[in-house]
Formats: sequence, C-alpha cells, structure tokens
Amino acid sequence: MFISFECPYCMTPNTAEVDPDNDIDQQMIQDCEICCQPIELFITESDQKIYVEAKQEWE
Ligand SMILES: [Zn+2]
Repeated sequence: MFISFECPYCMTPNTAEVDPDNDIDQQMIQDCEICCQPIELFITESDQKIYVEAKQEWE
C-alpha cells in the first residue's frame, strides 16, 4: 500500500510504499521526490490504520 507524508525539508507531499505485514514499527530512509533529501520514516499502526512519521535524517 502507498502512504502519503510530507517532506520535513520542503513540505512537499510524498508517497511511500509500505508493506503492512513487514514494515510496522520499522524505520526506513526514503529520498524526497522533489528535494532529494533523505527522509527518515517511522511506520506505526494504530486502530488498524497505518501512519508514517517523517523526520529529517539528522534531526
Ligand atoms: Zn523534500
């Protein structure tokens, strides 16, 4: 499934592909589609919904 999140550098909406069976409580790095900065994504699940927390990698 694809989840949208906002780039923490340039605030542009991005999408990440998340595998709900394997990616919950995992961290991944994805480069922003627009500014190409590395975004740290933390995947969580709550009430059967998947959430992505996006942070700057060096924060
Ligand atoms: Zn960006």
